[in-house]
Amino acid sequence: MKRNEAGNLQHLKKLNRLVVLNTIRQHGSLSRKQLAKLIGLTPAAMTGIVRELVETGYVTEIGLGKSARGRRPVRLEFNPSAGFVVGVEITRQRTTVGIVNLGAQPVVIKRLSIAMEEPRLGLERLAEETRNLIMSSGVEPKKILAMGVAYPGLVDRSTHTVKRSPNLGDKWRDVPVKAWLQELLGMEVFVENNSNAAALAEYNFGKGNGVPNMAYINLGEGISAGIILNGTLVYGKKGFSGELGHMVIDEDGPLCNCGNNGCLESLYSALALVRRANSEIYLCGEEEPLRSVWREKGEISIDDLLTWSSYPEGYAARLIRQAGWHIGRAIATIINLCDLEAVFVGGILAAAGSLLMDPLTESVKRHAFPELVQEVRIELSAMQEDTGFYGGCAVALQALFEGRLDFYGE
Ligand SMILES: [Zn+2]
Repeated sequence: MKRNEAGNLQHLKKLNRLVVLNTIRQHGSLSRKQLAKLIGLTPAAMTGIVRELVETGYVTEIGLGKSARGRRPVRLEFNPSAGFVVGVEITRQRTTVGIVNLGAQPVVIKRLSIAMEEPRLGLERLAEETRNLIMSSGVEPKKILAMGVAYPGLVDRSTHTVKRSPNLGDKWRDVPVKAWLQELLGMEVFVENNSNAAALAEYNFGKGNGVPNMAYINLGEGISAGIILNGTLVYGKKGFSGELGHMVIDEDGPLCNCGNNGCLESLYSALALVRRANSEIYLCGEEEPLRSVWREKGEISIDDLLTWSSYPEGYAARLIRQAGWHIGRAIATIINLCDLEAVFVGGILAAAGSLLMDPLTESVKRHAFPELVQEVRIELSAMQEDTGFYGGCAVALQALFEGRLDFYGE
């Protein structure tokens, strides 16, 4: 056999294996007969692949034994615990690292504070923490198949390089995150913008499951959107789409870290709200509880703002309601442009719950084109502050199930 032909056969075998595995995974449980009918492979071709998947543990045979009318057919089920991936979300103030199985069920999730101003040092520390987490998790290291990292900033789709991340600092320009982490950890690494990653998580295993036209809005240290249309994540040419936070809403507004003035996120991201609270709180009367916090601690944090937002007439509640209203206007524009079925909101500010969501939803309904917004679901993400972390996991899992990485490491 010629070398090319051997290569093609090998490729075909991998492809068939992936189709068999994905079909079993998507249907929950199938008999061999149903499986053969669904994928149209010959029984001979299928038998070998199924045997291999059972032997390697990715597929389990269930229902062995006799029924009243003779032998009950064996059913095939996907075994999500045959492999695992590492998920990571990086933000300026917090890095979340964890391990999930192939069904996105968490084994362990750890929240860390890693200084990221110096990219190489930050990633070395992340690699060390990841190694420690794997060692203490009880998961066999060889069963960890890949790592997915969700990043705040512009991530080049073809090279998985972080082109720029104003939230992490000025040194984050053209940082080869994939290459560095692969070198440090010796495993396949996939890197994606945090909102795109979170949208994938919401679509694959969150409230957005089965909703092919949806957006995920990340209200974190910045503001951005991941948009899924017709079941596919919208990337644009380089993978930079979704920069909702840089919609200019006030040309005379504060300087944004992108270089423009008055961007949505320079006014209403979690960091912007904290900045504003710290500079305005002295103007509030003595009855304002947040003013006492500021006086005692010297500064107000995002946790203080969220805690004191439960005081309905207080400064924090007013600020968050105002943010909800303005963010809602921006979301209305996405709905007008994309004709969505659902919008899910996550990130730090999502912790404010209905205080944020009520004005946000009212503003979306007020500002979007009526026929487009009528039946749109606008909800908090079920994964809330961990959506970015599950996004990292979703990116790695998608690479596996799309065949960009082989299950057997071939
Ligand atoms: Zn901007």
